Amino acid sequence: MTTPTVPSTTPATTPAGPGRQALDSALFRLGQAADRLELDDNLRAMLATPRRSLTVSVPVRREDGRMDVVQGFRVQHNTTRGPAKGGIRFHPHTDVHEVTALAMGMTWKCALAGIPYGGAKGGVSVDPASLCALELERVTRRYVNEVLPIIGPERDVPTPDVGTDERTMAWIMDTYSVNAGYPVPGVTIGGPVNPGAPDRAGATSRGVRVAALRALGGSPEGRTVAIQGFGKVGAPAARYLADAGCLVVAVSDRTGAVIDRSGLDVDDLRAWSEETGGVRGYLRADALSQKELLELDVDVLVPAAMAGAITEENAPRIRAGLIVEGASSPTTPGADHVLADAGVTVVPDILANAGGVIVSYLEWLQDMQARSWSAREVDARLRGIVEDAFDATAAVAAEHGITLRQAAHVIAVGRVAEAHRARGTHP
Ligand code: NAD
Repeated sequence: MTTPTVPSTTPATTPAGPGRQALDSALFRLGQAADRLELDDNLRAMLATPRRSLTVSVPVRREDGRMDVVQGFRVQHNTTRGPAKGGIRFHPHTDVHEVTALAMGMTWKCALAGIPYGGAKGGVSVDPASLCALELERVTRRYVNEVLPIIGPERDVPTPDVGTDERTMAWIMDTYSVNAGYPVPGVTIGGPVNPGAPDRAGATSRGVRVAALRALGGSPEGRTVAIQGFGKVGAPAARYLADAGCLVVAVSDRTGAVIDRSGLDVDDLRAWSEETGGVRGYLRADALSQKELLELDVDVLVPAAMAGAITEENAPRIRAGLIVEGASSPTTPGADHVLADAGVTVVPDILANAGGVIVSYLEWLQDMQARSWSAREVDARLRGIVEDAFDATAAVAAEHGITLRQAAHVIAVGRVAEAHRARGTHP
């Protein structure tokens, strides 16, 4: 008898890694808020558990005839306050734990901003840089087919995240529409077919700017900024902070990091990065390591890349007085502790990077009312929502002597818990 050949695929279960750590961090922060709110065990269990979690296998037909099978996920953490909303990331290390943690973060983000959405997230464990456009399209369309039963304009609306963009959203919209038999532009936000509000793409970064300026207080003129990550969040954030008068002195991405103490020409650097594939080698600035960027003596540090950038290990060397989290979960709970002791203010992700989902909500409001606000009006509303959320968070933090992150979670978790109580449990 011959031994069967076992097909080589990604494992059905993922080992404990950064994703599990991200989920443990999210649960730790939920637990802290639940303790302060004195939530009962039933509510804690509801809030700690995603309402729906779908893991799918996505076969990728490669151009050379090979077939890889990667895993995809869509997690709806909570829909008690409204339909789920959240990005889709394509990243080789993404797993169900990371996606669950990110979905939970979306729930708190929407609740803190006071917008009637729940939290979701999706992911495919694939490196988009390793695929050609055709392969990427096949992965996207097959993933959408697999998660089709749980997404839709009234249920769960995907948006771009790490490794996905406008083009991905267009493929998602098209695949969903082909299955439905009619065009469904509202199934995604952030694509070229349904581009939404003017400059929707920069909305998250505009929220980062509002949060940073609120936290800085006083004039932003000449305040120095270092930004980790020069993608969809980091690059526009650099532009907006420079527009506000700040000096963006250093930027990093996956290729390297650059510094100019007199202030980088952000547009020139972006053009270089788009042309060459990254900031490395930029001629009008000095090189430094990505690690050094995090430890620069600047007024503001904006982590806008991946989770877990600031840890217990490097936190003692952070010299920025203010950290504004453009990325999701860039700071570990251990680092939070070190930074709080050192007097570093951290504007948490669920407050600092809420701009994207807020502008999505403003688009939906315009659709419902069959009216159209100007870019200026949308911007003013975005600013109002982020500033109000910031002020409410700062007030709770001051009242209880806790960090902005803890305060933001107390408000957000409290709102979701209240919605659970009001709706009751079925059956
Ligand atoms: P992106 O893929 O467009 O950009 C990520 C950037 O990080 C790239 O410039 C990449 O080169 C850089 N990077 C990767 N590894 C790095 C490293 N080790 N050191 C320095 N830079 C590194 O992704 P994005 O959409 O900008 O998302 C970035 C973060 O912001 C993620 O945590 C995401 O969840 C969060 N976020 C994004 C949005 C959005 O609207 N896109 C909204 C809220 C939160």
